[in-house]
Amino acid sequence: MNFELDLVELAVVETVEKLAREVIQPRAQHYDETETFCAESLQALAELGGMSINLPEEYGGLGIGSLAMSRVVEAVAGACASTASALTAHFLATDSILIGGTEAQKQHWLPRAASGELLGAFALTEPAAGSNPADMRCRAHREEGGWRVRGSKHYITNAREAGFIVLYAKTDADAGHKGISAFMIPQGTAGISFSSPEKTMGLRGSTIYELALDCWLPDSALLGSEGAGFNTAMAVLDRGRVEVAAMSLGIANAALQASLNWVRERQIGPKPLAAYQGTQWRLADMYAQLEAARMLTWKAAARRDSGERFSLDSATAKLVAAECAGFVTDAALQLHGGYGYIRDLPLERYVRDARILRIFEGTSEVQKIIISRNLLDAQR
Ligand SMILES: Cc1cc2nc3c(=O)[nH]c(=O)nc-3n(C[C@H](O)[C@H](O)[C@H](O)COP(=O)(O)OP(=O)(O)OC[C@H]3O[C@@H](n4cnc5c(N)ncnc54)[C@H](O)[C@@H]3O)c2cc1C
Repeated sequence: MNFELDLVELAVVETVEKLAREVIQPRAQHYDETETFCAESLQALAELGGMSINLPEEYGGLGIGSLAMSRVVEAVAGACASTASALTAHFLATDSILIGGTEAQKQHWLPRAASGELLGAFALTEPAAGSNPADMRCRAHREEGGWRVRGSKHYITNAREAGFIVLYAKTDADAGHKGISAFMIPQGTAGISFSSPEKTMGLRGSTIYELALDCWLPDSALLGSEGAGFNTAMAVLDRGRVEVAAMSLGIANAALQASLNWVRERQIGPKPLAAYQGTQWRLADMYAQLEAARMLTWKAAARRDSGERFSLDSATAKLVAAECAGFVTDAALQLHGGYGYIRDLPLERYVRDARILRIFEGTSEVQKIIISRNLLDAQR
């Protein structure tokens, strides 16, 4: 497999890496402590085309491949995981249009989302339907000239800040997952109320909301065709899992780099912490897991670009990378001792931010279900 980037992709990755170091990372602690939405960091990314890296050029995207995209997401997450979360939620929304929308809908929505003028949100999860979205209760009924939507969604990233929400709802309650359709909801649509932002363990510079819906949408709001929503959402999540894996690499790498600096400086008795074999073994374990996760993530990204099926690869990468981020951030905090537990350093934030990676866009258990289903199907 070829993991090389072309010159344009390399320039994009290096530009975002610089932005991440100089603009995004310095704001991360402030967003976390004040629980402020990471608007300025997203704006800075938008100015460089960063909101469009998942889209082809014909819709205002940069037209870069998934491998370059993973490297961009890794750089942003290493600087500020909250910004990476808001960004990748935006990609879930624009991917929904790219995969499920009509040509007219793509032309209408994607260029403005690509430029950063419109932030997107992806609304699938409900209080009673998380791991199994087919259980969703949100309903869309046909009415004269449009749809009446009633129900609720929760934990929706960017929902209140978004210029549009891609909403998944049941249009046929008796058809199981085949009765799910997707709808475009522009900001300001009457009949939608938002909770206050949820109080979260990590990603405190990114916001999630509960939505209560009793709204009317025109016919043109139906994304693509009726009943196609479930397949769209699953295809979107296959892509999104590569991005969550890349986020995991970013947070884990930041924790590893902080640890390498720390163990060289920290004196324990007569020598630096780095000189103890126990430390070296711990660092080696952190590095080995991170590299293994990186190879799986890059493999999934390369497969995503090849046009072949990549659900097995993206689920495997997401599972391994998210678990790796948990292990590496915890090990990094341990190497810092009490200093790691104090909020002056970002170690405890890395631990808190990494925890969600094993939960959203399919928990680790759900990834295992996808992986084993793929393996068993391949034997038939
Ligand atoms: C910070 C944050 C951001 C989010 N952003 C979004 C967003 O933008 N859009 C959106 O739609 N959703 C979003 N979510 C929701 C997220 O995707 C769900 O929380 C996640 O899919 C898990 O669903 P759940 O919380 O209902 O857990 P549940 O489905 O109730 O799972 C509970 C436990 O049961 C396990 N489990 C479930 N099924 C099985 C099974 N078959 N076998 C064994 N174990 C099983 C799970 O692995 C988990 O451990 C977000 C959540 C958070 C916390």
